[in-house]
Amino acid sequence: MHEFSFAFNIFKIAEATAIKHNAKKITEVQLEIGELTLIVPDLLKRSFEMATTGSIAEGAELVIKILPGKIKCRDCGKNSSVTLSEESYLTGLQLFQCRHCQSKNTEIIDGKKANIKNVKIQE
Ligand SMILES: [Zn+2]
Repeated sequence: MHEFSFAFNIFKIAEATAIKHNAKKITEVQLEIGELTLIVPDLLKRSFEMATTGSIAEGAELVIKILPGKIKCRDCGKNSSVTLSEESYLTGLQLFQCRHCQSKNTEIIDGKKANIKNVKIQE
């Protein structure tokens, strides 16, 4: 996926928070990332390092919490939690099977969002 542009957006939001509080340094940024965003945490961390070099956020730690995906079955109406198979990483194809009735007629209801939960700063 587009880890670098995402990392840059995180940096801009963290920077705005730091400026608002007259902070000298950003020490940590906490993220929650849905598993189905296909964001690769290691790649995101490296991109964040690149995006923040020479800035107020240089050396800040990126703490990433992965939230599991959730689907709703259109046939039986029940929810299932899902994880990405290696195959879907390779193909980008996300077809999920209902755990209750094995139908593939499902829609993703959770796990495609990424949020900044907290920005730690030094004043
Ligand atoms: Zn079902």
